[in-house]
Amino acid sequence: PITGLNDPSLFREQALVAGEWINSSSGKTMSVTNPATGETIGTIPACTAEETQRAIEAADRAQKEWKTRAPEVRADILMKWHDLIMANADDLARIMTIEQGKVLAEAKGEVKYGASFLKWFAEEARRINGAVITPNQPDRRVLTLKQPVGTTAAITPWNFPNAMITRKCGPAFAAGCSMVLKPSELTPYSALALAVLAERAGLPAGLMSLVTGEAKEIGPVLTGSDTVRKLSFTGSTQVGALLMRQSADTIKRLSLELGGNAPFLVFDDADLDAAVAGAIAAKFRNTGQTCVCANRILVQAGIHDRFVARIREEVAKFKVGNGLEDGNTMGPLINEAAVKKVRDHVEDALSKGASYVSAPLETNGCFATPVVLEGVTTTMRIFREETFGPVMPIFKFTDEAEAVRMANDTEFGLAAYFYTEDMSRAWRVGEALEYGMVGVNTGSVSMECAPFGGMKQSGLGREGGAEGIEEFLETKALHIAGL
Ligand code: ADP
Repeated sequence: PITGLNDPSLFREQALVAGEWINSSSGKTMSVTNPATGETIGTIPACTAEETQRAIEAADRAQKEWKTRAPEVRADILMKWHDLIMANADDLARIMTIEQGKVLAEAKGEVKYGASFLKWFAEEARRINGAVITPNQPDRRVLTLKQPVGTTAAITPWNFPNAMITRKCGPAFAAGCSMVLKPSELTPYSALALAVLAERAGLPAGLMSLVTGEAKEIGPVLTGSDTVRKLSFTGSTQVGALLMRQSADTIKRLSLELGGNAPFLVFDDADLDAAVAGAIAAKFRNTGQTCVCANRILVQAGIHDRFVARIREEVAKFKVGNGLEDGNTMGPLINEAAVKKVRDHVEDALSKGASYVSAPLETNGCFATPVVLEGVTTTMRIFREETFGPVMPIFKFTDEAEAVRMANDTEFGLAAYFYTEDMSRAWRVGEALEYGMVGVNTGSVSMECAPFGGMKQSGLGREGGAEGIEEFLETKALHIAGL
């Protein structure tokens, strides 16, 4: 179990289905492992199609009542949930570090970031407005009404066990929808703790269910359901495509936040200190396991050697270890398969002519040390695939056109970053990059007030910002004639 919590009741080993904390009807469980120690933390119910179906039916009933509540009432519950999360931030962070691995300071950062979506969408709940259109016929007016999509489902990943839940639930509940959510089986306890707090905040029973267990058991029930009108998914492009196919028969609305292959461009005219700090943050956040992590660092020839020298110094400062222990600044990867991918990408690059700038890669259990490679080229796997680990490959380019071409040379289009002090270049490159989010002189592009999402095979739809709530609304045209 997870010990050392101020409020031990936040650690739950049951699923929340249709307003009740339950075990699976099959009696089966799955165990959850701490990636830093390899120890089993506890178990979760391996829910079946039956529990999933029960959750959907309860969500449907709850939604019919919830959508009729005044926006302010919905907003107040979301705000109360936000406040409870902030009041319990230390416990939520501890649970997250133990099941996910990220260091405690990062986990606390995520808890705050996660809560920010509830506050933002609580505020948006009161600004869901349609329009009045004046058509060509003088005896007619057309109104647009914004109405909740209805019962929705979500499937969330392990890299942000808290924020990926609130970023989906917040707009859904603000809009008047209900949600059946399947959290990642690798990090369910952060999700379950959030659900405990949602109950305390007064979220109606059944409006949100957390169905834990095997993706292949629960997923098809969610995608195949006629009652579920929308699916919001964050995870790999491969699973996103599968869910899209499975959702085709019921013409479900989809929000898909999928993989990335983010370029990070440093031009000769960049502020070197800022570019180094931005690259370190964008690459090594969450041990490199975010879909917006810089995957390819493209550096112009004139600044290349100075940039590499500075990066070498910064990377040597990381302390890798258990995220619960003071002083460690980088936690483990999520599992040994993730470590293997890191090793494969590094070995592939070294075998094709890249070389270490940093100390060589060392791995132990789920831990991998941060490494930097130079002399990397576009023929290496690391240029094409998302590494999802603490490897910084540095590519060299000569001019702006080449940099933009390399940056866009991928089927992904989630986040991109570039550093320049030239305003014309900032506009030109900002417009030319085929990415849903572009950071100019910053290594961070996610906040509750801005739309987050990808182009190309990085996904569909946007989360956060004003766009985030639109994803959970239908637009109805109401024609009033014979005036
Ligand atoms: P990652 O590469 O980040 O682990 P995945 O796409 O494998 O991403 O996982 C993200 C979420 O998708 C998790 O909750 C996982 O359980 C779920 N998932 C994985 N496979 C399937 C599937 N076949 N159907 C539905 N959900 C799935």
